[in-house]
Amino acid sequence: MNPDSRTAWNECLQIIKERIGEQTFKTWFKPIEPVKLEDDILTIQVPSQFFYEWLEEHYVHVLKLALNAVLGPNGKLEYSVIVDKGTNGSLPYTVKYPNKSPSAYAPKERYGSRRQAADYKGPFKVDVVQEYQLESQLNPTYLFDNFIEGDCNRLARSAGYAVAQKPGITSFNPLMIYGGVGLGKTHLGHAIGNDIKQQFPDKFVLYVSSEKFINQFIKAVQNNEIQEFTNFYLQVDVLIIDDVQFFSGKEKTQEIFFHIFNHLHQTSRQIVMTSDCAPRNLKGLQERLLSRFKWGLTADLQLPDFETRIAIINNKIESEGIEIPGDVVEYLAYSVDTNIRELEGVLISLVAQASLNRKEIDLELAKQVLKNIVTDIETEVGIDYIQKTVSEYYKLKVDQLKDKTRKKEIVIARQIAMYFSKEYTNHSLKSIGYHFGGRDHSTVIHAVQSINDLMDTNSNFKNSVEDIKKKLKIRAVY
Ligand code: ADP
Ligand code: MG
Repeated sequence: MNPDSRTAWNECLQIIKERIGEQTFKTWFKPIEPVKLEDDILTIQVPSQFFYEWLEEHYVHVLKLALNAVLGPNGKLEYSVIVDKGTNGSLPYTVKYPNKSPSAYAPKERYGSRRQAADYKGPFKVDVVQEYQLESQLNPTYLFDNFIEGDCNRLARSAGYAVAQKPGITSFNPLMIYGGVGLGKTHLGHAIGNDIKQQFPDKFVLYVSSEKFINQFIKAVQNNEIQEFTNFYLQVDVLIIDDVQFFSGKEKTQEIFFHIFNHLHQTSRQIVMTSDCAPRNLKGLQERLLSRFKWGLTADLQLPDFETRIAIINNKIESEGIEIPGDVVEYLAYSVDTNIRELEGVLISLVAQASLNRKEIDLELAKQVLKNIVTDIETEVGIDYIQKTVSEYYKLKVDQLKDKTRKKEIVIARQIAMYFSKEYTNHSLKSIGYHFGGRDHSTVIHAVQSINDLMDTNSNFKNSVEDIKKKLKIRAVY
């Protein structure tokens, strides 16, 4: 191997690493070996045809960016794709891509497709120094079309949709979307922006993360350019500002934002904000700003239920053109109930593993992959499944396990479900409480104790618990 190719590739990796998620990096870039570097053409060896296609489909921009930075504008990439691994030290049989002449090589422009959603980390124009761009900074892959609706997001989604049809005119101004990590806040924010852009091409829609807003402001202060900063934001017709919880404690930023907010609002410009918690829980935010946030509509995103998770997975595999058996889809949906980003991560790792090891995607592989990557899923059942099983057993509705009812038989069922959640999942007490209608961790501790006590003293009760356990186990071994 030519040492130059190693050095060049390592430099590329540094650049790539900063722009994609860690799991993605491990999955798609770690297995790549640099082979040679000749005439500005870097050849990398990838484990399979599928790998090559996936890289070209999803990461061509980031690869191009890295090559450009490391090799200059003439830098090109060639793939050596392993077709047959070879045995006992014989070299693998590989095929070169692109197999046309290198000059004919033009990376596919997939920017407008919906395929890059999972790893998009902002605009690619990193080398543009200009501070304020009149571009919307929207990720074109986040759309309403691929934002699956469920009970968990119905209000936020429809409010977002309404805003997109009549930006600035509905009473949903500002629209505040809040929810935990990976539940779709950013996706929804972009979807609103993209929809508006499409219907009203003349409107200046701007997506900005709160961090970026803060950094721009700090810079503006340093360079004595606060006026430019403010003027720029005052031109915006639709301002989508993501993760405003980062404003907490930043008095000066809040002040300027307050000013911009008022101006935009008064002139019927639309403001969409997201936050990781409800406005009332936003600590370190000035009261006057908070009260502005409440002028419009506040809508939350909840954890998706089982059916919604299935729909999200199906949508994802369809848009990626991959095939996954139904039982595996169900298994994933049962097992990953933490958030949607994680669900997508697991799905992609599964596809990668199947390709790397040339295996079919089946339950066995899915279990293996889950064990390796999602630390909080050791066991095979999720809280959802436990709740479903327990409520079926007691002929209750799942919701009754989560609501406030103090009826004895419901309390017992709820406690049993908590007990199994503690026993069979790796969710923290806090997280378990959250899944049971937002109860706190001491309630869960109490439930576990009560169930243990009851089992010790009441053999009928113990049998019931054993019965439920069997039902759970059936799922566990599938
Ligand atoms: P957040 O900003 O709340 O942390 P994101 O918007 O980044 O979450 O969502 C995480 C991932 O989950 C994204 O890839 C997004 O496309 C996906 N996702 C979230 N909600 C949905 C949904 N309802 N339908 C389809 N995909 C979703
Ligand atoms: Mg986000």
